[in-house]
Amino acid sequence: MNENGGRTPLIAGNWKMNLDHLQAVAFVQKLHWTLKDAKHEADSVEVGLFPPFTDLRTVQTLLDADKIPFELGAQDLSAHDSGAYTGEVSGAFLAKLACRYVIIGHSERRAYHDETDEVVAAKVAAAHKHGLVPVICVGETAEDLEAHGSSAVPVAQLTAALAGVAAGAEVVVAYEPVWAIGSGQAATPDQAQDVAAKLRAVVREAIGDEAAARTRVLYGGSVKSSNIAGFMREPDVDGALVGGASLVPEEFAAIIRYQNHVGV
Ligand code: PEP
Repeated sequence: MNENGGRTPLIAGNWKMNLDHLQAVAFVQKLHWTLKDAKHEADSVEVGLFPPFTDLRTVQTLLDADKIPFELGAQDLSAHDSGAYTGEVSGAFLAKLACRYVIIGHSERRAYHDETDEVVAAKVAAAHKHGLVPVICVGETAEDLEAHGSSAVPVAQLTAALAGVAAGAEVVVAYEPVWAIGSGQAATPDQAQDVAAKLRAVVREAIGDEAAARTRVLYGGSVKSSNIAGFMREPDVDGALVGGASLVPEEFAAIIRYQNHVGV
């Protein structure tokens, strides 16, 4: 628990298309041992791992066998349940692999796979249908920032994504300015807080006060062990979605252990 309304922080590692299933085993073991050696308290921060689809069964088996307290998530899912959709992966299959989360609407999917707000909303519905918690990614490009400021596009994207969601449903929101992803240039904690508060207001409007109070809003974009503590001090930032830095066990462990950093 933290001071952010009692919401348990979530530090989520999006591996993107990195680490095959054998590398995944070595990574998960190393991360687990590093946290254990540091006497990290598992219930102070929730750790989510988002490996490629081909790693999920292997990682699930390892977490289960060694009782490793990390949550598993997928990087995408199909809007459809089953059928003639070559190459797609159903939320029903992810649920069978004990996935708790699924990332939806990552800017790379929006940019390289033409995922529209309508597709994102359909995938959010599919996630809920199969008992998965959607991690809904929203964020402005550098051009959006220039033209509309930081919050207009993320607010519009989240409003569209939540349009069909039932009151009280569980969602996680990830505010990821596109210009900050993989660039080494993170937003400032103040900027992240400003947008996170507006996104929480969207959740409140769409699915109610109680859901808004429970919803974790993550910041993503060039998060590192050296800047995570600043984001986590903000009242509406409840965790991070981490790309590049989630691929190095020692660095990802240091991000998870942000509470131990000097000055926090
Ligand atoms: C991401 O891809 O979601 C991300 C935040 O990447 P990075 O941490 O590398 O900027």
